Amino acid sequence: MKKLSILGSTGSIGVSTLEVVAAHRDKFEVVALTGGTNLALLSRQIKEFSPLVASVITEESAAILRKMVRGSKTEILHGVPGMIAAASAAETDMVVAAIVGAAGLVPTVAAIRAGKDVALANKETLVTAGRLIMDLVKERGVNLYPVDSEHSAVFQSLQGHRSDDVKRIILTASGGPFSQYPLEKLAYVSIDDALNHPNWSMGRKITIDSATMMNKGLEVIEASWLFDMPVDRISVVIHPQSIIHSMVEYVDGCVMAQMGVPDMKAPIAYALTYPERVATGVCGLDLSSIGSLTFFDPDYERFPALRLAYRAARDGESMPAVMNAANEVAVDAFLSGKARFMDIASIIGKTMDAHRPHDLGTIEDVLQADRWGRAKARELLGN
Ligand code: NAD
Ligand code: MG
Repeated sequence: MKKLSILGSTGSIGVSTLEVVAAHRDKFEVVALTGGTNLALLSRQIKEFSPLVASVITEESAAILRKMVRGSKTEILHGVPGMIAAASAAETDMVVAAIVGAAGLVPTVAAIRAGKDVALANKETLVTAGRLIMDLVKERGVNLYPVDSEHSAVFQSLQGHRSDDVKRIILTASGGPFSQYPLEKLAYVSIDDALNHPNWSMGRKITIDSATMMNKGLEVIEASWLFDMPVDRISVVIHPQSIIHSMVEYVDGCVMAQMGVPDMKAPIAYALTYPERVATGVCGLDLSSIGSLTFFDPDYERFPALRLAYRAARDGESMPAVMNAANEVAVDAFLSGKARFMDIASIIGKTMDAHRPHDLGTIEDVLQADRWGRAKARELLGN
């Protein structure tokens, strides 16, 4: 029986994780859940999975949730201390880190410090604090399993091979809704256009990141930490069908790819049960009905955010955390109608131009860089 704490259980990844858990009640037990504002969903999850602990963001939400689940044994906590308690509960074996954004960093760090294995969906953790996290993972001797489909694909394509023999990692990208859109009209796309992802159903922030391709940039940085690979040996290819989830090229010219229909339950389950595989309900591949798989290079004029992410990775130190913070602010502004689509990359670029990268010695340094990036991006948006 594997005992799980699921951080961000009310989100897209959280819900898919609980679907995998519900299909394998003999394998998993839920110790803790955390959510944000969707208290109706969180209360249903509490009733279905009876965790010991559940946590929400505010004290007011906690009071409402307590009333909603009256009579259950679940202790309701709130705030960062509540998320940390959920992440480090004594009973927990593995933490699913599925909070969105830099808000996921501190609870994920708490999980690793408490010696828990982590199934990592929150890519912002490695983007902002990669060096510190990888050092901590080593120091605590915990396992970090990728949930992101591309990283799961790379992880699967590395099984049984020597990492010394890897030549490069090739991340695939769907290209989002705008890979073929008229370039001159990109500045005027609506929020709904940008949220209309062709292949994946995900939370709003990552869906906008997919439309700008910042998501792929964040994934390049995430992959460089997870697989100890310089970003210059990580390339990106657009593959609109999202059937090949990513690839590893070896020194002999052989390329290992992992394929499947795009459904996050498959990589989630692999992270939860590695090295075993379990049924997920994801259907197999009907290649003849798919017909053809196509590939092309990303256009950096269309997707300036992807270039910015490579630049942030090369600059290193505090720059990726600042870039990530500016992205979160700019995406928020776009989603609330306060910025246009192409402003997102422009705000990120200007925030990065204003930043002098410095060493990040502690998690507090990362949070400080994050705050700096947010403040600068907000100032630029105001102008
Ligand atoms: P989502 O928006 O659907 O869910 C986010 C979850 O985090 C919700 O439970 C929400 O309540 C919680 N949350 C948000 N802000 C919070 C805060 N400040 N404090 C505490 N909790 C907070 O997001 P998602 O699509 O499930 O993505 C989650 C993470 O997984 C992201 O980092 C994303 O990049 C990554 N990821 C998602 C997918 C996907 O298919 N959705 C794929 C790969 C990676
Ligand atoms: Mg991904």
